[in-house]
Amino acid sequence: MNTTTADPLATLLTDARAALPETVDLRRRLHRTPEVGLHLPATQAIVIEELRGLGLEPRTGAATTSLTAVIEGARPGPTILLRADMDGLPLAEETGLEFASATPGTMHACGHDTHMAMLLGAARLLVARRDALAGRVLLMLQPGEEGYHGARFMLDEGLLEMPAGQDVTGAFALHISTRYASGTIDYRPGAMLVAADFIRLTIRGRGGHASAPHETIDPIPVAAEIVLALQAMVTRRVDAFDPAVVTIAHIDAGTTTNIIPETAFVEGTIRTASEATRALVHAGVRRVVEGICAAHGAIAELEIIPGYPVTLNDPGFTAFAAEVAAEVLGTDAVVELASPIMGAEDFSYVLQRVPGAMFFVGARPPEEDPATAPQNHSNRVVFHEPAMAVGAAVYAAVALRHLAG
Ligand SMILES: [Zn+2]
Repeated sequence: MNTTTADPLATLLTDARAALPETVDLRRRLHRTPEVGLHLPATQAIVIEELRGLGLEPRTGAATTSLTAVIEGARPGPTILLRADMDGLPLAEETGLEFASATPGTMHACGHDTHMAMLLGAARLLVARRDALAGRVLLMLQPGEEGYHGARFMLDEGLLEMPAGQDVTGAFALHISTRYASGTIDYRPGAMLVAADFIRLTIRGRGGHASAPHETIDPIPVAAEIVLALQAMVTRRVDAFDPAVVTIAHIDAGTTTNIIPETAFVEGTIRTASEATRALVHAGVRRVVEGICAAHGAIAELEIIPGYPVTLNDPGFTAFAAEVAAEVLGTDAVVELASPIMGAEDFSYVLQRVPGAMFFVGARPPEEDPATAPQNHSNRVVFHEPAMAVGAAVYAAVALRHLAG
């Protein structure tokens, strides 16, 4: 390596800030036209045009509207994967922003519009620094992060078997959040986000007249007992330092005052921060549900539907990326979190295959009170756009250092 060459990180943040107007413009165009799920044709079209504008060749997925593109470095070497998600959420925007969603009932309320804009910003910085890259950067743009397993579709379609994917030695993603001060990077090694699974239960009893419960099998008290017993199961069976949350969020039974219904329907979510606790809680839910139903002569029809796995940040890659972020932003802007976030992410599927990490980019507007700022998934959430320059610079810096040769 030519040691007289200037450090490619030296001007990264300055250049990202200089390009902020383009990043903001792209983000606002995407924000105006949000789409939900695995098929996002309008979003995909905008991103394809942007990638081509940088001289890159986007490749489209078959099963979904996913995209990949490769930035070839000047010298050979391994590949780093940088990921952004592309989907919005089914809710009606109430931010009052001039660039608010033009699609009724749909909103980029989790900031995935900013993720695409930051990744494109990083791509621009990296294309201009190809000479400093020993290897290649694989850009992964996925639809369907919000519960549709979009990343898994891309992996199933051969993301890591395609020519540019075979030598991926690191994977990195950023997620914007109003939980943290604008311009900070917030992270932790190990579990960053949790596994989210779903309980769906029908308790089958025997209906009849409300005046003669002994002639029926009333599913309502059975449901009530299960709801409370699940909470006791969590506190008595789960290590307090490897936490779990079980929430029953929906109960439905009966029609009126004088009928005992045949069935009661109960559903909710299980959140766990390790695969060991995840398995333990699944078994506990089954035991409690089946045991209580059996005790009352009711039949349990229980489904535990697996959602995303735990998002596990590789300790080595995490330490490396945090160091790189501190190099770009200064140590005060890089904050290690004490505990995981109880949300879930399908980047977890990528991290099961490749050592890497997901970090947060703080984007809470400075004028907002941390206690009351609308959060991701709120239809009033507003992200502080200058934080996107930080995100673009950190994405690019992690790639440059990983491929330093
Ligand atoms: Zn999100």
